[in-house]
Amino acid sequence: MKSPLFDPKSIQTQKITLPSLEKQNVQLLIKRLDLVHPFISGNKFYKLKYNLETAKSEGYHTVLTFGGAYSNHIQATAIAAKLSGLNSIGIIRGEKAAALNPTLEEAEENGMSLYFITRESYKKKADDRFVEGLKERFGDFFHIPEGGTNNLAIQGTSEILKDEDQQADIIATSIGTGGTMAGLVKAAKFHQKVWGFSALKGGFIFEEFDKLLKEQKVNYNCSYKIFADYHFGGYAKHNAILLEFIENFYESFGIPLDPIYTGKLLFGVLDQCQYLENKTVLCLHTGGLQGIKGFNNRFGTSLKDR
Ligand SMILES: *Cc1c(COP(=O)(O)O)cnc(C)c1O
Repeated sequence: MKSPLFDPKSIQTQKITLPSLEKQNVQLLIKRLDLVHPFISGNKFYKLKYNLETAKSEGYHTVLTFGGAYSNHIQATAIAAKLSGLNSIGIIRGEKAAALNPTLEEAEENGMSLYFITRESYKKKADDRFVEGLKERFGDFFHIPEGGTNNLAIQGTSEILKDEDQQADIIATSIGTGGTMAGLVKAAKFHQKVWGFSALKGGFIFEEFDKLLKEQKVNYNCSYKIFADYHFGGYAKHNAILLEFIENFYESFGIPLDPIYTGKLLFGVLDQCQYLENKTVLCLHTGGLQGIKGFNNRFGTSLKDR
């Protein structure tokens, strides 16, 4: 069956020109996955594509997933499900606020039914018995895990790289759950290296990522490396340096970045480029710009929502 989420033919790639890069003969290219779809941005498009296709072909009418209150995955799932003719249920971590934030508002406007559960219960989100138990309340549904990461997601994200991307020596992405990176590692060629920049604090990600590759039986030929020191204090943590970097990046190159994933990613990539010579680096813009409004509301920042 054809996916209601069309197949993107080509994604715009933009070159970042900086004297320091030129001096070292480093070519930095940004693959604008944030422009892949008007409403379903970045890597989430690829992660959801086969999940929704499968839900439909297996005869489900509803998908259910999990996420935080500002989650790009929640917003993307709501819209993708709607476009696929499926109902969607979002199980949201934490208490319901008096007013919905922009992310949840958009999810609800797109037909997602939202249910809030305590942080304690939320920890059981990957527990099969817990998920099965939800069927007593909501009826049958197709389960998409938090962040959308499963085998179908990895199949989707492995399609991000096209033939023309074989020119890259290094492919860089942001890491949340690692689902996107797993697809890249699966698709990259033996001469390529995949770099992942964790948006979360902690060395747990090294083990977690290896576990993901094993559990999902991802075969690969390339090498990869994870950087766990560009989180700026942790998930959604930020400081003036990061915010200024994001503004400057837009001023210089016309590319908007989000403060949770892609801002930290580009900061890290540019920092690591110092140590390269004669290389081509392809950096994925994984999207996430929908989160800027909510981020500003939450932290009183004034990042421009472009
Ligand atoms: C979800 C998300 C990520 C993390 O993707 P994973 O596959 O969970 O590692 C990175 N960047 C953006 C913008 C995202 O929304």
